[in-house]
Amino acid sequence: MHDKDSLAPMTADEVLQVLRDSDVLMEGHFLLTSGRHSDRFMQTSRVWQHPERAARLGQALAGKVIGRVGGDAFRSVIGPAMGGIILGYEVARALGLRAIYAEKEGDRMVIKRGFQVSSGEPFLVVEDALTTGGSVRRAIEALQAAGGVPVAVATAVDRSGGHANLGVPLISLMELDIPSYSPDDCPLCREGLPLQRPKALSSGRP
Ligand SMILES: [Zn+2]
Repeated sequence: MHDKDSLAPMTADEVLQVLRDSDVLMEGHFLLTSGRHSDRFMQTSRVWQHPERAARLGQALAGKVIGRVGGDAFRSVIGPAMGGIILGYEVARALGLRAIYAEKEGDRMVIKRGFQVSSGEPFLVVEDALTTGGSVRRAIEALQAAGGVPVAVATAVDRSGGHANLGVPLISLMELDIPSYSPDDCPLCREGLPLQRPKALSSGRP
């Protein structure tokens, strides 16, 4: 089904270097969606601009998943839109499997676009970066509602600090802990650094 030699492993340092090369890790003074402040912000999508980097990360993650749960544990890959689509596609490509995605509909996620899920079909769930695991959890609910079975979750960057509690094994290429501060007790505020809202950093920038 797949050539294991093509699933070249990557160290956490190598993954971090790829993220740095892609300007994924931004430094400054950021307002997070949680309301807290941080000196770093991950704009993960920036790495997916580069197909060859996406392919390399997908191969390394596929190899790690195979090492953990085996190559026969799942038959398809699903990712939550948007973050999980490209990495899920690359993991599936590396393993010779198909990839589908779940997408937001109101507060939940659903599987649309004519994607078929067989009853009891085992899936690998892929997300690009995982913090609270909310999107992954909603994708799992969509998968289960369609009759599929999640076998494991795979992500390039695990930022959960081991607190994701997804009910299945979580496999990552690297773990990353980015400190955040209460607005009342933020060293960056005390330095008078201007606060940036990363959600606004979406277009018109290189
Ligand atoms: Zn601050």
